[in-house]
Formats: sequence, C-alpha cells, structure tokens
Amino acid sequence: MKDKLRTAFIERFSSNPVFYASAGRINLIGEHTDYNGGFVFPGAIDKYIMTAININGTDKVRLYSVDMNQYTEFGLREEDKPAEQWACYVFGVCREVIKRGFEVKGFDAVFAGDVPLGAGLSSSAALESCFAYALNDLFNDNKISIFELALIGQSTEHNYCGVNCGIMDQFASVFGKKDCLMRLDCRSLEFKYFPFKPVGYKLVLVNSQVKHELVDSPYNKRRESCERVAKTLGVETLRDADMSMLEAAKAQISDEDYKRAVYVIGEKQRVLDVCEALEKGDYETVGQRMYETHHGLSKDYEVSCEELDFLNDVAKECGVTGSRIMGGGFGGCTINLVKEDLYDTFVQTAKTKFNEKYGIEPIIIDVVISDGAHKVE
Ligand code: ADP
Ligand code: MG
Repeated sequence: MKDKLRTAFIERFSSNPVFYASAGRINLIGEHTDYNGGFVFPGAIDKYIMTAININGTDKVRLYSVDMNQYTEFGLREEDKPAEQWACYVFGVCREVIKRGFEVKGFDAVFAGDVPLGAGLSSSAALESCFAYALNDLFNDNKISIFELALIGQSTEHNYCGVNCGIMDQFASVFGKKDCLMRLDCRSLEFKYFPFKPVGYKLVLVNSQVKHELVDSPYNKRRESCERVAKTLGVETLRDADMSMLEAAKAQISDEDYKRAVYVIGEKQRVLDVCEALEKGDYETVGQRMYETHHGLSKDYEVSCEELDFLNDVAKECGVTGSRIMGGGFGGCTINLVKEDLYDTFVQTAKTKFNEKYGIEPIIIDVVISDGAHKVE
C-alpha cells in the first residue's frame, strides 16, 4: 500500500511524502456495556488506513482519496465542511485540532485503506486516527496526548459526521498494540492491556451483510430499560449492580427490564473472566464466554437476528471455540475464535449453509491483533 501511495502522491503533488497509518478494530467481548458504565475489550487489527502526506506551504489542505478516486481541497480557516463525506473526517480532525489550540498548516495527502467500510470494524475511526496522529507528529512535536487524539476523532464524528458515538473505536485505533487487547473502563476511561496471542487459533469475522433497520429505536429502548433498573436498585449505572441486588428487587422490575439487566450484569463478569483467562493463556474459557455473550444478546437483550443466530449455530456445530455477534446487533458480523485446523471447514460450511438459507454468501475477514496509529517508516 505504501508504494502505491508514494507513486500516487508524487504524480499528483511532485514532492516526497512521509507516511502514517491507523487501524480498524474488533471488540472481543463487552457489548452494550459502554452506556452502562461497564467494560469493553477492543483491539486494533491488521487492516489500516494509510496516508502519504507532506506540508505544502499554503493554508490549504489538498486531499486525494485513492479508494473513492476523488480529489478535494479546503482552506484551514474555512468553517463549512466539504461536500464529500470522506473528506469531512479529515476536515473535522483539522478543525478539532485547531479548536484545542494546536497547530495545523497546509498539507497535501493521498490516502487509502483496507478496513472494510461499514462492516463494524470502524473504518471511520481508522481514518480520523490516522490524520490526528499525522497532524500531531507533523505540526505539534507530538504534544497532543494519545488520549486527546482519540477525543479529537470522537468529536469529529459528533460535530462533522452526525454520528453520536462513544470513545471505544477511536480509543482502540490510537492505543492498539500488537498481540494485546485492551480492557477499557467506560466510566473512568482507565484501561489496561491484556496479552492476546492465540497460538493455534485464528480470529475470523463472518459478515452476514445483513442490516435490519427497525422502526422504533431498540437502542434507546435498551438504554431506558437499563436506566430504569439502575434507578430501582439505587445505583448510578448497572456497573454498580450485581445479581443478588437484582434478585432482591425482582418484584419491582418488569420481566423485560429484568432480562435486560441479567445480560448487562452478566456481561460485566464475562469481561472480567476473559481477562483472567487471557492472563493464563486459556483460550477455551475465552471462547465459552463469547458463546455466553451471544446467548445473552440473543435471548435476554434481544438484539440478535435470525441470520446471526444461524451463524452462531453453525460455529457451534463445527466445534468453533468461541463465537458471538460483534457490535450493537440486528445484523453485521459474528466474531469467531477458531482452531487453525478447523478453519477451512468452518469457513466453507458457514459460506455454503448461509448461502443455501439466505441466498447470499457471507464475507470472511481474517484479523490479527496489531498496532494502532503509527508513523510508517
Ligand atoms: P465504519 O463502521 O466502517 O466506521 P462508517 O459509516 O462510520 O462505517 O464510516 C465509513 C465512512 O468512512 C465511509 O463512508 C467514508 O466516508 C469513510 N472511509 C472509510 N474508509 C475509507 C477509505 N478507505 N477511503 C475513503 N473514505 C473512507
Ligand atoms: Mg464508523
């Protein structure tokens, strides 16, 4: 990718660029926990957005997207965002860096990536983090903290892209480290690296390519259930609740809200169990917790769908170590921890059976936990 970008950059801008990259991410476990003050457990993957970039001595940003085959430019004093959606991410990052009192000068950039778009791997966070990291290194002697870079990406989504996201995606993209997952505490924003080096296993995403658009917002309804239960239990968020508290208050809680809380409280423990298992290199326990999470998301939290339950069942039948929905639900990918010698059988079976039933072949995406934002030497 680097050579391709270098060639495209020199053709277009006739100068010698430097290179930066940042990564997409997976979340191994810890779903629907962020708004409950709980833990998520992401890691950066070997799918990147990379940019070739150079200072151009003007107050303009000139941008070429290889993948979109589009060129655009904007002034650094301009307040109006560009017409192209993809350019809004870069524009937003520039604005957010400037807003925080840091420096951005005119630059030329050519960028491309292999993070699949809209597949739940956060290509947008990879794009923001790539440029935030680059601007920090090029213009600010890396004075902006890594965490602030993540916040710059998040604010870009909020203020320029209309996506009211949490911090996990940008966090994972900037802090990601090879062979490590990160337990991020969504309440305190403290985090800790845990070793993730599953020798003899592969991590594979199966993208159903299904997205169910639901009329009422199930996301908001789930949030409201959690808030109601927290209030009944007298805690700020379900992070502070445990099963015995929930059982004691069961009579005051609707059956539906009760099930939602069972999932959230269980998920907190499952993340902690996975941390303990990873420290021992016990990937069988990790896999079991993934299945339990899927079960909870499907039966208690009710955010799965027929297609994802089907893929989960196929994984189980094939003897895959762990499998679950990744992301908010109602479509998208499953994430699977698969023994290497089972990999071919599983992938083939998932493709064939899913195609037979739903008339579409799922997309297989192998991922390896890798470094996040960095300068490419
Ligand atoms: P995701 O879940 O992958 O983050 P989003 O809809 O949030 O999906 O972000 C996808 C958007 O990010 C694309 O529509 C595009 O504007 C931008 N983007 C991502 N990857 C690239 C790329 N390689 N080149 C240009 N723009 C990209
Ligand atoms: Mg995104």
